[in-house]
Amino acid sequence: MRLVLLGAPGSGKGTQATRLKEHLQVPHISTGDLLRAEVAAGTPLGLQAKEVMARGDLVSDEILLGMLKERFSREDTQAGFILDGYPRNLAQAAALDELLASLGQKFDAAVQLVVDNEQIIERLAGRAKAEGRADDTPESVRHRLNVYDEKTAPVIDFYRQHGQLTVVDGVGSLDEVFARIVEAIQAGHEVG
Ligand code: ADP
Repeated sequence: MRLVLLGAPGSGKGTQATRLKEHLQVPHISTGDLLRAEVAAGTPLGLQAKEVMARGDLVSDEILLGMLKERFSREDTQAGFILDGYPRNLAQAAALDELLASLGQKFDAAVQLVVDNEQIIERLAGRAKAEGRADDTPESVRHRLNVYDEKTAPVIDFYRQHGQLTVVDGVGSLDEVFARIVEAIQAGHEVG
């Protein structure tokens, strides 16, 4: 199963991906996690990305595509994948299509987790306290939500127009949301 998870920051993509990965036995590829690992390791790429991420802006498409190509060249993605945090703009959506085509692959579904803005802000405030992520400051959260509306929301329309979008209600307990996703991707599979 090849899945792309879409949704605003704080919509629960990472949390659900962790569960889906066990369920589907495929790797979870989080571009945010890949970037944070580069920052933590102090690589040149990490040094470039650090400030951009702390502000809540998008790291360059070029860096992201390079990282993704590298990740997809690893054997474990043959079984499938759950992509979380990519694509975040239309250029990245086109780049993903191209990358998968070059690998002779196609994803099965783009799943959008829908959570209203008020709840997103509440969740991110909670996460800021619990995890202390550099980009969970109020200014950065606000900025990330703007970037999402401006750059990432069009990606959802793009997949909708291509008939690849599955919309899932992301409000509820972790178990409830997980069950909805599993149901949605199974239904999508049956319809083809
Ligand atoms: P969240 O979804 O909570 O914003 P992520 O962990 O997905 O968190 O991403 C954190 C940050 O990493 C983003 O705000 C951005 O700076 C950078 N990032 C992650 N994925 C991408 C991407 N596909 N393109 C550009 N920047 C990205």
